[in-house]
Amino acid sequence: MADVKSVGVIGGGQMGSGIAQLAAVAGISVWLEVATNALKNLKCTSNLEDLQSADVIIEAIVESEDVKKKLFSELDRIAKPSAILASNTSSISITRIASATSRPCQVIGMHFMNPPPIMKLVEIVRGADTSNETFMTVKTMAERFGKIIVCSQDYPGFIVNRILIPMINEAFFTLYTGVATREDIDTGMKLGTNQPMGPLELADFIGLDVCLSIMKVLHVGLGDSKYRPCPLLVQYVDAGRLGRKRGIGVYTYG
Ligand code: NAD
Repeated sequence: MADVKSVGVIGGGQMGSGIAQLAAVAGISVWLEVATNALKNLKCTSNLEDLQSADVIIEAIVESEDVKKKLFSELDRIAKPSAILASNTSSISITRIASATSRPCQVIGMHFMNPPPIMKLVEIVRGADTSNETFMTVKTMAERFGKIIVCSQDYPGFIVNRILIPMINEAFFTLYTGVATREDIDTGMKLGTNQPMGPLELADFIGLDVCLSIMKVLHVGLGDSKYRPCPLLVQYVDAGRLGRKRGIGVYTYG
């Protein structure tokens, strides 16, 4: 198991900036690529090559298999031979992402929850070839971030999103078919099942584009029509209503 002294984070959106904050607070030196903010102890760069000295590189870019594979192939060239390449993907196969590299035993899923500094869980996903050493290094680093881990096999959506995102999709169907208003759907689930946020409110928080990408991975990967994305979710994404990050999703934000 390696002692992690430096971490690279790629993708400075809602997840990447939170993951970088966690590592910096844990005393690990961090390079954040595509940076949007500057925290103390954090070095920001727009140059991937700066990540070549990192012990672990955590990818948190757009939820697209092709884009992630392209990045991992580039990281394989840039990162030092001992470096671990981790993906924060919500649903995409770690085995397939790893196939874009020459080091599949050092590729792993490290799925933080949103927002990373607050949420206690990190879901660790082992691809077909992920080594025990890689797993132990990432598990220890997650614990150093103050997180509790769960382990998932490499199947679409892993544990959390396999269950959560179909529930959100069903909330969209409930709205789409006129069963209830968005407010009543959210209040019903909040007070009726003791969830801190209603599913539509949560979808806006996650990002409707991210929810739709995950639903598509479940639909294709599990091959069951019960995972088809709700047309209303698709339409909102087509309209650019991506949720809080765009100021409009199911709800509008001031
Ligand atoms: P986001 O849209 O907030 O941020 C993505 C960032 O990646 C943007 O800053 C974008 O400019 C950048 N980016 C896109 N393509 C890039 C590339 N090729 N190279 C470098 N940067 C690139 O998205 P997010 O919500 O932070 O999601 C990022 C990843 O984390 C996705 O894989 C998503 O599934 C996963 N994730 C999201 C959540 C959530 O609740 N939003 C939770 C857990 C995991």
